[in-house]
Amino acid sequence: MRHARSQGTALITGASRGISAVLSAGGKGTPAFGVYGAPKAAIRCCVRAWTVELKDRRPRSHVLRPGPTDTPALGQHPADALARMVSTIPMGRMGEPAAMAKAALLLASDASSDVTGIALCVDGGRAHLLLILIESTTQRPKTKKGQTMSNNNARALAGKVALVTGGSRGIGAAIAQRLAADGARVAVTYATGADAAASVVQAIARAGGKAIAIQADAADAEAVRNAVERTVTTFGRLDVLVNNAGTVMPMPVAETTLADFDRVFAVNVRGVFVATQAALKHMQAGGRIIMIGSCLGERVMIPGMAPYAATKGAVKMFTQGLARELGARGMTVNNVQPGPIDTDLNPASGEWAVGQKAAVPLDRYGHPEEVAALVAFVASPESSYINGANLTVDGGTNA
Ligand code: NDP
Repeated sequence: MRHARSQGTALITGASRGISAVLSAGGKGTPAFGVYGAPKAAIRCCVRAWTVELKDRRPRSHVLRPGPTDTPALGQHPADALARMVSTIPMGRMGEPAAMAKAALLLASDASSDVTGIALCVDGGRAHLLLILIESTTQRPKTKKGQTMSNNNARALAGKVALVTGGSRGIGAAIAQRLAADGARVAVTYATGADAAASVVQAIARAGGKAIAIQADAADAEAVRNAVERTVTTFGRLDVLVNNAGTVMPMPVAETTLADFDRVFAVNVRGVFVATQAALKHMQAGGRIIMIGSCLGERVMIPGMAPYAATKGAVKMFTQGLARELGARGMTVNNVQPGPIDTDLNPASGEWAVGQKAAVPLDRYGHPEEVAALVAFVASPESSYINGANLTVDGGTNA
């Protein structure tokens, strides 16, 4: 992960020990922690309000929400209380301060330039919004506790294989090229755009990477399963699945036919289920499943999007449910939720864009590469404690 921040000054309060360098706030309610939790919830609300209020000055504000984290403060709790805490964490262990620092670094860096007003839970899956840094024993870098882990000298995804559905254009193409630049061998699927898919493969090859394109309509279960098998046959393994293929049919509910409704669910939800199920047969500990949901999966700021928003809400809950199942296998599942991104699906110009742009505190559409940067981080070993998270990259639209 390139946490590039070419210039700037950071002020870190309360940084003498423990979870330094982060602004922390509570996640879900815990008995006997009301007095502690209330001001933390207030911080969350303040950040949301700032994000909108300071829209014209374009700062970026976020909340990091650590779960139980291995610091001296937590060590004061009785052992049985600590054991009870750990038993509520899907990934089975407490977080480490370094995990918070990594999350803060990501949010401070230019890589997250289109992210503002979000709350990242760094809690091993304890809430459903989270950023977790737990690594399987095989993956954990051999550093002493407290030392900074860095993979600056090696590409984050070297040796890994990724499958990106709908990777021929738009966000999917940007993700495929970014994962390849980070060292992964990449398979992309497409529905009809064979030429566009071939261009992505060629661009990756020109940059020294390896990629293949596979025709597989996300609504065709057999084709999707075959695409997963072909990826494994070609590259020998599968480490990262990015469920990106998606479609939208903007129209009022009254005018939406059952065929329209079924199609958008078949591509955006059923397709995700089929690809995930097929991929899980091949994925090992350290594997990453990454959904491309939408900020509309949580809030809807424009009319005509009800069925589409429903599909992305379904993707969100599928992510959260699956995270509960896969934690024990050492795999993570996360949902990256873009706001308005300039692609063929949602061009930044034209009448349709006006209402969407007006809802974005950063006052612009995002670029596919800005979504790809977050996906690359979630796919990398750096994010190994991010699980069950809904990570919104929407310029603050949902703040
Ligand atoms: P684009 O329409 O620009 O690109 C879609 C990609 O998915 C293309 O590669 C396309 O391939 C492929 N695709 C479309 N339908 C299918 C299908 N049935 N089966 C397989 N592949 C398919 O879309 P975006 O890049 O904008 O969107 C990508 C994802 O991001 C979607 O899930 C979308 O819902 C989500 N998203 C987008 C936002 C935006 O503002 N752009 C905002 C929030 C979420 P082909 O060339 O063959 O058609």
